[in-house]
Amino acid sequence: MGTTLKMLELMLRQKLLGQGLKGEPNTPLIVSYAVTRACNLSCLHCHVSAREAMPDELNLKEAMHAIDEMASLGTEAVIFSGGEPLLRKDFVLALADHCNNRGIITAILSNGLLITPHTALQLQEAGIKAIGIPIDSVVPEKHDHLRNLPGTFNKAVSAIRTCLEIDLEVIITTMALKDTYSEMPQRLEFLYNLGVDEVAVYDLVPVGRGKNVMDQAMTTEQRVNLIRWLQSKQEDTEMTFAMSGGTPLYPEIALEMHRSHGTKPKDLLVKEFWVHNGIGCHAGNMYFSLRPNGDVYPCTFLPIKAGNIRKQSLTDIWRNSEVLNSLRQRQNLKGECGGCEYREVCGGCRGRAYACTGDYLETDPVCLRDLMIEEKISPADIKRFGWCVG
Ligand code: SF4
Ligand code: SF4
Repeated sequence: MGTTLKMLELMLRQKLLGQGLKGEPNTPLIVSYAVTRACNLSCLHCHVSAREAMPDELNLKEAMHAIDEMASLGTEAVIFSGGEPLLRKDFVLALADHCNNRGIITAILSNGLLITPHTALQLQEAGIKAIGIPIDSVVPEKHDHLRNLPGTFNKAVSAIRTCLEIDLEVIITTMALKDTYSEMPQRLEFLYNLGVDEVAVYDLVPVGRGKNVMDQAMTTEQRVNLIRWLQSKQEDTEMTFAMSGGTPLYPEIALEMHRSHGTKPKDLLVKEFWVHNGIGCHAGNMYFSLRPNGDVYPCTFLPIKAGNIRKQSLTDIWRNSEVLNSLRQRQNLKGECGGCEYREVCGGCRGRAYACTGDYLETDPVCLRDLMIEEKISPADIKRFGWCVG
């Protein structure tokens, strides 16, 4: 495909993404592909317990074939993650190019340590639309503590500057924890002054090493306070926010809160990652996670194997996996979620339900029903969900 045509296609797709993705329920619109489990960090809360590469990670031919299948299944966006995906930089660059040639938008999540001006340019030239970089505190020591290595804060900030300098879109991923969530105003101001305008605030899901730090998870009251604060902050800033990690209804809840309060945000949250279907938890619904060894999980936060692409075609797994099909039928849900009036549009975070109960169809203990009722958001009001993929 010629460069001009490719640029045109990217512009059109950006426009399309600006209106949110639309698709039939059985289309994997977004795929999170963890290209390696290797990582140059060992963060305390890492949900995939990354450190060493898996011994049997997919090779380029296998990964390209998987992308061909994604394209024929209707995938619109692939997010490369890890581990640290830039430890397989050439692999990622080749796959990004392959995605672009098949009309799939790409983004990457990186801890920023390996971002140099040259690498940032390579990512941009390969057509990667956005990069997610973590900043977990404005206090360098606090960020470094969570990332488990001194100096990572400064390197992440330097990576952000490097990407912004060449207009590579940066989305900051930032953990909201019990002891640090109240720092959010300073954190957003710091990021704004850096030139960042998109922030995904992550809640802690007890998966991988995240299980060991669950005493750091926000309380329900803190979570609700944070949602309310982000919603009001949206009125006086050009920045756009999403809450990620088990809170897929955040954009819709925030929008409904604006509607009922008669307020108007300057921008409509992180529109790029809205999906126009009210299904809430999208694990196995419009989304799946491809693991480094070809295993398919319903979500990166729900480590249950639906199949492996070396043994079955991706199409077969997506259409026929018992795990994926059970997630698509909300009448299968149990406990509070099973009997809830918001079951079809929310469904609870299946990853958190699995981590906390051992049964992925059980109750999600973190529930925003009271907030939705208080804000008079009925199930019929919920028509979209946001990005909560890692
Ligand atoms: S009980 Fe809560 S988490 Fe579960 S579906 Fe209802 S609103 Fe969602
Ligand atoms: S399991 Fe569902 S709600 Fe939880 S992080 Fe995954 S997609 Fe989001």
